[in-house]
Amino acid sequence: MTDERAARSGRFAALDRRPVNQDGLAHEDPGLGLVALRSPDDPDPSLVIGADGRVAEMDGTPRERFDMLDRMIADHGLDLAVAPEAMALADGELARRIVDPGYPREEVARLVGGITPAKLAAVVRLLRPVEMQMAIGKMRVRRTPSIQAHVTNRLDDPLLIAADAATAVAFGFRELETTVPVLEDAPSNAVALLIGSQVAAPGALTQCSVEEAMELELGMRGLTTYAETVSLYGTEQVFVDGDDTPWSKAFLCSAYASRGLKMRVTSGGGAEVLMGAAEGRSMLYLESRCVALARAIGAQGVQNGGIDGASVVGAVPDGMRELLAENLMVMLRDLESCSGNDTQVSESDIRRTAHTVPLLLAGSDFLFSGFGSVTRYDNMFGPSNFNGDDLDDYLVLQRDWGVDGGLRPAAEADVLAVRERAARAVRAVYRRLGLADYDEAHVQAVVEAHGSKEVPLEDPLAVLRAASAVQRSGVTALEVVAALAEEGFAEEAERVLAMIRERLKGDYLQTAAIFDEEMRVLSKVTDPNDYAGPGTGYEPDRRRRREIASVRQELSVREVRAEQELAAATLTLVEGPPAEVGSDPREVAIGLSPAAGRGIWTTLSGISVRDALREIEAGLEEEGCEARLIRVRSTVDLGLVGLTAARLAGSGIAIGLQGKGTALIHRRDLVPLANLELYSVAPLIDREMYRTLGINAGRHAKGVVTVPAKNPYTEEAITARYHTRALALVAIERERSEPAVPIELTRAVR
Ligand code: CA
Repeated sequence: MTDERAARSGRFAALDRRPVNQDGLAHEDPGLGLVALRSPDDPDPSLVIGADGRVAEMDGTPRERFDMLDRMIADHGLDLAVAPEAMALADGELARRIVDPGYPREEVARLVGGITPAKLAAVVRLLRPVEMQMAIGKMRVRRTPSIQAHVTNRLDDPLLIAADAATAVAFGFRELETTVPVLEDAPSNAVALLIGSQVAAPGALTQCSVEEAMELELGMRGLTTYAETVSLYGTEQVFVDGDDTPWSKAFLCSAYASRGLKMRVTSGGGAEVLMGAAEGRSMLYLESRCVALARAIGAQGVQNGGIDGASVVGAVPDGMRELLAENLMVMLRDLESCSGNDTQVSESDIRRTAHTVPLLLAGSDFLFSGFGSVTRYDNMFGPSNFNGDDLDDYLVLQRDWGVDGGLRPAAEADVLAVRERAARAVRAVYRRLGLADYDEAHVQAVVEAHGSKEVPLEDPLAVLRAASAVQRSGVTALEVVAALAEEGFAEEAERVLAMIRERLKGDYLQTAAIFDEEMRVLSKVTDPNDYAGPGTGYEPDRRRRREIASVRQELSVREVRAEQELAAATLTLVEGPPAEVGSDPREVAIGLSPAAGRGIWTTLSGISVRDALREIEAGLEEEGCEARLIRVRSTVDLGLVGLTAARLAGSGIAIGLQGKGTALIHRRDLVPLANLELYSVAPLIDREMYRTLGINAGRHAKGVVTVPAKNPYTEEAITARYHTRALALVAIERERSEPAVPIELTRAVR
């Protein structure tokens, strides 16, 4: 009988279980629009200006065959004064000028103003990933990078929204976006977010992403301070399906701007494919049309880089490259880029990090158009590419590369404090305005919660009632200000009022405007990107560098020393006379490094030096050997510590032991590096191994065969985990070493 079972490779079976293999990856299919950078059906760039001064042909289409998008772009999106010059430039030449740090940013923006969507796609298609990063570093509008957060929860709990908003601002987010699982809750979420956003620092912008009419109304009532969800698409059919036109979108944009609200539009590759209406065009070309439309309708910026369709883009070859190109095209059109990363593109941590890091290194106006600042299950947009539980990872990435990712470490106590303040402020306002009444236990639960699963849902209809009360009563931001002031939240009242005041000034309607924490507007006008090659452009200043560096996991030698001192009482070694050469053949020396039991009392595995010694001595005793403690003072090198002790041992055999726990067996006739057995991975050495070490040393002394202990299986990143602590311990060893002869040691009797 033959075994019919197909042979299976253990290696492939293991690969199958990796998270990346849960991702859907698609064959390129240009007919469906499942193609990232170029489709055979993408038009060639062209632009003909007619005798009437209007565009007569664009990208191969004559005016009489223009669809809605073509008309809007041709009539409002192109700088026809520049167009002849810009369109005449070879794609490669324009691509080089985009990347070249010596070619001025403003000049590139001027030229790009005159090129068609197909031309922009053709030029960007030429850029390699690193060239795109160079281009992004130069072309993003604002000098100072920033970042947006999603702040939502499954319960729409207003206290939790506020606490999470305050938390996000404490970590450095400057725009906060909320949405709702239940549309009618939106007014409540907007109010809670507005209040919470102003607790930790002034000036964070807020939005509530919901159905367009309600969102506009919330904005007009001052309950939100920006909007970005006016959606644009790359084909006419998708506009038609959504019962929209570029003109209706333009009208919405104007409506926001007329009330002093910052606004940008949303687009992003993959949307047209998902709607089955990509017209056989590449994602890059369709997105280039969207970006040109954004320019045409007068939006301040674009949220793109995939967004809801990010994973579809990621499913095809060159997908991640296309997503980065989307952001770049926005910058080239001289608009604010809110650069995606708001959808988890992969189940693989490696792959989702690889998606975000190129942009993090290059810098963007908004590195995320929605970092999920809350935990994944509470992100009502769906998980972002990075979420609340990834905050430490992100902070360390910033620190690793010395780049400004827009965030800063926040201390746990500070976060608890702002969460409480935010929750209390919202509770007070809701009570004052008769919206809802939350008890003290609820406040406490919210302050300490990881997410909404830890917040009680006392009354499932409370939020809905509060929201409809806000809606019915026509509450505006001014009533919120008054309620805050009356309830003793004067600072928050002043900050919310300042957000209303800023609308009248309108400075934050400039491209790429944000407020810093002193309420200064940073925008294309006040903080223009001035990158022009190495040594220019944005670089974190000294204060900011320190802030980025100061993650809570940072460890200093001083802290490690203090930590060691806590265990000092576990062992006291009394120094005796200089050690002489012994004569008892059963005597095995234990050579202690300069700081073992004298500055260092706990090894890297957590076992105390005392217990390590006890196990070694017990092992020697099992073999009928005598242990003799010797302090080797003149070297921190374990090989030399062991060899020095071996030369003093009656048997000629010694164990060397360092404070951090590394140990070996040495013999007096060997060279320092050629020891008998080495237990090199200190963090993994357990008591049993120290016992084996003692036994084996005893057997070596007796000339009996030994079975060396094997290092245990491990998948830990040993060096990453322990090197910081190890080098601190080596520093302590070094401090304790001195040019002095070895001495006898005895344990103090306790
Ligand atoms: Ca967003």
